[in-house]
Amino acid sequence: AGRNRNESLEIYRPTMGETYRRRFNLVTQFRQAVESGHISVYYQPQVTLRNQELRGVEALVRWQHPEFGMVNPAEFVKAIEATGSIDILFDHVLNTCLKQSNLWLGRGLRIPVAVNVSVRNLTADFPDRVAAALATHQVPGELLTLELTESNMMADPEQSLPILSALHAQGIKIAVDDFGTGYSSLAYLRRLPVDELKIDRSFIQGMSTALGDLAIVRSIIDLGHSLNLQVIAEGVEEESSREVLRSMRCDGMQGFLFSRPQPIDRFEAWLAARTVR
Ligand code: C2E
Ligand code: CA
Ligand code: CA
Ligand code: CA
Repeated sequence: AGRNRNESLEIYRPTMGETYRRRFNLVTQFRQAVESGHISVYYQPQVTLRNQELRGVEALVRWQHPEFGMVNPAEFVKAIEATGSIDILFDHVLNTCLKQSNLWLGRGLRIPVAVNVSVRNLTADFPDRVAAALATHQVPGELLTLELTESNMMADPEQSLPILSALHAQGIKIAVDDFGTGYSSLAYLRRLPVDELKIDRSFIQGMSTALGDLAIVRSIIDLGHSLNLQVIAEGVEEESSREVLRSMRCDGMQGFLFSRPQPIDRFEAWLAARTVR
């Protein structure tokens, strides 16, 4: 075996299973796919619970693969985290969003955009790279939110702290994604420069049938508010959940009830239909 071989990648052999071949292809083809324009960004709106005003959009990556069709990020994000491609993914999504923000600003629209970050992206030079991208596209940091899952953020809080603080100093907001599924130390939650908690969709979806989930959602909202954080519910699919969340004073929501993630032209049409009343 060659010394230069990436440890995380086995050499493909025809005897390997179909699942393995697919994963192998996804990992090795990612870089080329970005260059070929096969990696795009979908936008899912986030609205306030009080009066359903647009409070921002979350950018969600999509891969239109020539052989496999539409590939879900659940299938390739984990796989490319082990390779340098995770930075290519982040840079591509960030630049796509900031280019879009700049176009919106030109039309007088200030729409905050949230981008997902992997813990693998959080190297010491990360805050400077994000600052450079904001400068290139002339977008103020206040319009950018970076989402990190709870387990990613708490994996090594002492290491995340200086990086998150440097981002925060640029006005960038930090959201804790999938909140409730990891193991947050409340002491760290208070110390880290966090602005938002996003309640994991498993609790939102269990809320209507499981009293335990309802209790967890209420506790997260109260915890967030007592720490002065915004609390967002993700995966809201039912009208009844919306009502309950509103009564519990949750700040924002995202979910199929309101809108699915959409490509930019469909999102623009959705936006136009809403503003022309
Ligand atoms: P996430 O950050 O928790 O994103 C929310 C996921 O829930 C999205 O799945 C979205 O399509 C889905 N969703 C939204 N509303 C509903 C709903 O009402 N019901 C249901 N059943 N699902 C809903 P998606 O787009 O497949 O993304 C999956 C995960 O992949 C994301 O979870 C995120 O962890 C990761 N991901 C997506 N884009 C990126 C990216 O650009 N970079 C990184 N590092 N990860 C990404
Ligand atoms: Ca997210
Ligand atoms: Ca989430
Ligand atoms: Ca998730």
